[in-house]
Amino acid sequence: MRTLIKAKWIVANDGRGHTLLRDGVVVFEGKHIIHVGQSFDGPVDRSIDAGSKLVCPGFIDTHVHSGHRASHRLISDAGRPLYFGQPFLEISVPKEGRVVSGDPRYLKPGDTALNAALELNAMFTVAELLRNGVTTFVEFGSQESVQLALMKQIERFGTRAYLGPGYDSGRWVGDSNGGLKRVHDPEGGLRGLDIAVEFIRKYEGALEDRIRGILVPREVETSTVDLLEKTLGFADELKVPMATHAAYSVLEFHDIVREFQMTPIELLDKVGMLRTTLNIGHGNFIADNSNLNYSGARDLELMGTHQCSISHCPINIARRARTLDNWDRYRNAGVNVTIGSDTYPRDMIMNMRTASLMGKIMGHDYYKAPAGQVFEAATLGGARSLGRNDLGKLSAGALADIVIIDFDGRHSLRYGPVRDPIKSLVECGVGDDIDTVIVNGNICMENGVIPGLDIDDLRDRAQRSGEHIWSTLQDWDPRGRTAEEASPWSFPLHSH
Ligand SMILES: [Zn+2]
Repeated sequence: MRTLIKAKWIVANDGRGHTLLRDGVVVFEGKHIIHVGQSFDGPVDRSIDAGSKLVCPGFIDTHVHSGHRASHRLISDAGRPLYFGQPFLEISVPKEGRVVSGDPRYLKPGDTALNAALELNAMFTVAELLRNGVTTFVEFGSQESVQLALMKQIERFGTRAYLGPGYDSGRWVGDSNGGLKRVHDPEGGLRGLDIAVEFIRKYEGALEDRIRGILVPREVETSTVDLLEKTLGFADELKVPMATHAAYSVLEFHDIVREFQMTPIELLDKVGMLRTTLNIGHGNFIADNSNLNYSGARDLELMGTHQCSISHCPINIARRARTLDNWDRYRNAGVNVTIGSDTYPRDMIMNMRTASLMGKIMGHDYYKAPAGQVFEAATLGGARSLGRNDLGKLSAGALADIVIIDFDGRHSLRYGPVRDPIKSLVECGVGDDIDTVIVNGNICMENGVIPGLDIDDLRDRAQRSGEHIWSTLQDWDPRGRTAEEASPWSFPLHSH
């Protein structure tokens, strides 16, 4: 079936990068785009008139942790200073002997999570990403049962993902004083790698090639050098990308420097992992960051020389009083900056806006982190980090992963007059403005409606799950705090 989309604005591509095509058409047939241009003379089976909307490549979210992220709601404007703003230490490290209620992501292989929780978390994740125009996402290290649950939802909703069970050589637990205790389990790391390799061998190319594998040693400081080296070996053998959290936390930076007398980035360089298809989440605490006061820094130069990728998750890190220092220096060094949501909301447009505003502030320069660059990071940058030349762009031969974005702001005045569609999108848009999503040539959402999904019911189920998680915090929190203690209400509760 051949489909033509006609629109006032199209993000086309001239082979060097994105271009703005005014009053043009995109034509796709089967999985692939066959033509982008001013007009098309051949026969078509279906026409979509997108009117004054914007037609652009689907977004690529390079940093997703599956789930509805209810536990993350406990750390808005709150947290424990000893974690230096590292969110997952706040909400993913349980008291010794306990598990984090309602979060199946870091259970060890063989641990059983409730199937209902797995299904709800996966459905929420894939549906939220689709609703926000994300056509490809990268899952960042959840365990195998989570990956399998995600795959079922991807099959159902029709989107595209890079999946692979994450692994590590031991995590943390909260010790009896409420501090952090590292658990060392090198054998567990190798078993986890085996599971990941087996998973990738089995599912690479599944669902009409919408599933691809990725190797994810979860964090550089929780992986032994042996585990990292073996990961690299399998990445070459299986020809898959890699992702890991590195240069992402003050604690991690100091741990690695103390253990190896080098920085996390220098360690990755020594192992040989620095490359474009290594997605470093988040890469903001590199030695060059003035907050770290590290002398002789060369992390940015190393990352740039190898053109490695970072998944920059601007909303998530800004909430923890951190930011990328800074967008322009990374770009100029040669780093491939991509954008991830990491947590809630999975809104790539809000993330683009935050990246742009933070880039200007940190650069002390309003020319920096312009709309075009953050849009490129959310599309072409993500594709590069996955080694893909057929994603993130609209041109003949690329896969038909397309989103149509409405500038009526859901019947509001939010956009006002639109001159430059990309600047308008980055400045005024939200994920809800996505009108239509096409993946692999199939329409997965139309007029904001995802076929077969009751969005209100899904939100209700996530709310109930959240209420349960919040009410059980004292059971697994290392300090035994209730939700009220850990996360005070924004105003005192009114007494009647
Ligand atoms: Zn992450």
